Amino acid sequence: MLDKYNRNINYLRISVTDRCNFRCVYCMPEEGVPLMKHEDILNFDEIFEIAQTAVGLGIEKIRITGGEPLVRRNIIELISRIAKIPGLKDFGMTTNGVYLSKYAQELFDAGLQRVNISLDTMNPEKFNKITRVGNIDEVLKGIEAAKNAGLNPIKINCVIEKSENETDAVEVAKYCKENGLQIRYIREMDLEKGYFWQVKGGEGGACNICNRLRLTSDGKIRPCLFSDLEYDVRKLGAEKAILLAIGEKPERGTINNTNKFNNIGG
Ligand code: SAM
Ligand code: SF4
Repeated sequence: MLDKYNRNINYLRISVTDRCNFRCVYCMPEEGVPLMKHEDILNFDEIFEIAQTAVGLGIEKIRITGGEPLVRRNIIELISRIAKIPGLKDFGMTTNGVYLSKYAQELFDAGLQRVNISLDTMNPEKFNKITRVGNIDEVLKGIEAAKNAGLNPIKINCVIEKSENETDAVEVAKYCKENGLQIRYIREMDLEKGYFWQVKGGEGGACNICNRLRLTSDGKIRPCLFSDLEYDVRKLGAEKAILLAIGEKPERGTINNTNKFNNIGG
């Protein structure tokens, strides 16, 4: 469906949880996020209905994100339900990769097509510093498992400070080349300060061609990552919330004071 700036809104990113097993320095406070009440989080029936309604309104591509989507209980069940929505053409997930060694095959069998996995450095100590708790070996095993399961393409999200020539980014690029993975460089952003950049190797951050809506884990449709606009699905119903979000999608991003990456999913 076209918005008022003639952009075809055909991509929905669904955050299924704001929780995560990592605490990346640019995403989460060290102590994690305050617990949302269980009843505030959308259940699978609600998420499925929103996804189905969205596809009915012209969404062709869905990405499951978080927080860390693979920490949500019974996530395979949700994946398998969404994968079967007629008209959905592209179905992916963004994950930190830790649980892929456990779930990659089940995800693929349930109908997930592809994954983006976050990896900012090849240096184990630095990886642990960035994620505060992470073990790089688990992620590398997860990437292997995703390849073996048939998830394709596998893209690596690499957060950079300023440039893809930074040592860490160069080493991640080398690893990607050797392992048949695509790399996307995401320059570190700050939602509250309104610092955002176009993703290199991807389509994020380019307002003039932005085709996205986002669904937060507590049921708000957000038309722009860099705006506070949101439409509550539980109050408005899925169709109205989606139509309002498309109708009011800002021409370009400014700032977002009410979200962090972990609850809007990047
Ligand atoms: N937990 C999953 C993961 O890390 O891939 C999915 C959610 S995470 C919020 C989605 C993406 O946002 C990740 O690739 C992460 O690197 C990126 N991200 C988080 N905080 C960011 C920031 N401040 N600037 C740029 N990208 C960020
Ligand atoms: Fe978790 Fe992903 Fe945020 Fe890192 S970037 S803390 S893995 S949600």
